[in-house]
Amino acid sequence: MTRVLVVEDDPQLVRALVINMQARKFDVDAAPDGTTALRFAAARRPDVVVLDLGLPDIDGVDVIRVLRGWSRVPILVLSARRASDEKVAALDAGADDYITKPFSMDELLARLRAAVRRTATSVAPAPETVVKTDAFTVDLVAKKASRDGRDVRLTPTEWHLLEILVCNPGRLITQKHLLREVWGPSYGGKSNYLRVYMAQLRRKLEPDPAHPRYLITEPGMGYRFEA
Ligand code: CA
Repeated sequence: MTRVLVVEDDPQLVRALVINMQARKFDVDAAPDGTTALRFAAARRPDVVVLDLGLPDIDGVDVIRVLRGWSRVPILVLSARRASDEKVAALDAGADDYITKPFSMDELLARLRAAVRRTATSVAPAPETVVKTDAFTVDLVAKKASRDGRDVRLTPTEWHLLEILVCNPGRLITQKHLLREVWGPSYGGKSNYLRVYMAQLRRKLEPDPAHPRYLITEPGMGYRFEA
């Protein structure tokens, strides 16, 4: 049974979440603030954490930082905040995904299952070495991409970007993370680099580069590879 820790101070939302999750056979604990959340996380070892950013005692981003000091549990952030920099801060602190309030329960549960699946597969003994989509194939060992049976020539920078994205299917990777990984620590703000290189990757890999199906932009936040 998947154990979920819900961290949220709105009792009505907590009730709705608990009812819906229990109906789908999740084992749910609920914490109304950050202090209780950290205590429950240590004592109950949840498989996934659903975390509201606006908590009465500790800022949600700080809860993520503390959790990440000792745990790799997937964290799905609930955010009522419009400001995307709050969500980026949460992702950079180690959250795995976010969902903006108000959200549909179905979408939340789908994200939850995806987060749990990702950790389940990331501890599997044999890592994925070939990533296949209906449009293109990426061989992570041979460092080759192909489309319609033909090799696609990628520059080292394009390859590095693609590699990070396809190794994290379904996961939102922030602009800052990609820029630091590919270009270096002082390039965290150069989102125009990313736009240029992502456009090139899409031209080479996407069937319809103007309407990407696999290399998805999350405006103001980052990019996501959808297998
Ligand atoms: Ca709140």
